[in-house]
Amino acid sequence: MRRLIIADRLIDAVHAAPIAHGAVLIDGERILDCGRATDIGRPEGAELIDATGMTVMPGLIDAHVHLAYSGTPHKALFRSEHAEMSYPAVSLRAAAYARETLRHGFTAVRDMHAPGGTIIDLRDAIDAGHVEGPRIRACGRGLSVTGGHMDQPGWADHTSFRDLTHPCDGPDGFRRGVREEIKRGADFIKLNTNAAIHGRPDRFCRLEMAEDEIKAACDEAHEQGLKVASHTLGEQPLAATIVNGVDCVEHAHFTDDRIIELMVRQGTFLVPTLLVNERNFDFTPEAQGISQRHWEWLLASREAKWATLAKARAAGVRIGCGTDAGFMIPHGSMSWREIALLAEGGLTPLEAIMAATATNAELLDLDAGRLEKGRLADILIVAGNPLDDLSLLSDPANLRVIKGGRDIRP
Ligand SMILES: [Zn+2]
Repeated sequence: MRRLIIADRLIDAVHAAPIAHGAVLIDGERILDCGRATDIGRPEGAELIDATGMTVMPGLIDAHVHLAYSGTPHKALFRSEHAEMSYPAVSLRAAAYARETLRHGFTAVRDMHAPGGTIIDLRDAIDAGHVEGPRIRACGRGLSVTGGHMDQPGWADHTSFRDLTHPCDGPDGFRRGVREEIKRGADFIKLNTNAAIHGRPDRFCRLEMAEDEIKAACDEAHEQGLKVASHTLGEQPLAATIVNGVDCVEHAHFTDDRIIELMVRQGTFLVPTLLVNERNFDFTPEAQGISQRHWEWLLASREAKWATLAKARAAGVRIGCGTDAGFMIPHGSMSWREIALLAEGGLTPLEAIMAATATNAELLDLDAGRLEKGRLADILIVAGNPLDDLSLLSDPANLRVIKGGRDIRP
């Protein structure tokens, strides 16, 4: 079936400016044509979607979510969920979160770690049409050294979990870990190369993985055609992460000119996750159950992330848009704020939208994110002009979401 959208303006995420009086012609699940409405005309038999007064743009993409997590801000609740929920229960709840994310205009997400690798199964269920949700790129479980950022201690010694995290040690261990996640169905590999030190006033960041472990994991993933992303904070551990082959660094708040230059030279993506850091300040340290030292570290990160964003933009680093939804952030309803924060940090509104569409699609190896002939018809129609007011993206009542050429129930 052919459908023709005619709107006041078209943001194709290809050109550096919106096109006035634009049109998108959809054929089945793909875009058949796109451009000025006068050039496209009225192909016979196409159903007309009249978007007068509205903007047509690519569906949004969130490059950093955890659909397996609820978004609770309290560390103790976050931990107890791991002990109380079975993996099927986690998957079923994640299906509701996925639906909520899609309803808020996000037609694709990158899932950055799930206990049991459960989000791989959700991805497949969505692709098969069993449940409705965004397209998912999933890493399965993130790889971490034993006792590292994603394999945290603190459980009683009689407690054991199966497949909650994926600890690996040594270059061979990480190679095997990569192979196991790929066997499970991962679309990319998540590492935890770098973690925070909350207990030391002189240092914030520590390299958890050895450099030969990072290199072995990246070599194996690249050999099999997958990208590698890593949780990072900054400084020398971030530099070591980039040098040893990681394609996308998450958070990465603490940088200097040399690190920014490394990102440019290596073509590394940066997903600065501004929202999750800002979100900490919606709660007191007591409400989160964290130490004073941890709070000070959050304050330092808050400062540093703006400086990094400004330097990265000026240098031409590829900046993606990811919220960390599921970790302190509910799914869907606040996600638009990451785009607004990118704009607060110095990107133009169009650049911020490009980060959440074209750049994220490149990061996810997804054939969407731009309104271009041949791409998937993942489309958002917004009442009004989001370039004047990004908060228009906050309310599903302003949005008509089309995924693969089909309307999503509001
Ligand atoms: Zn995360």
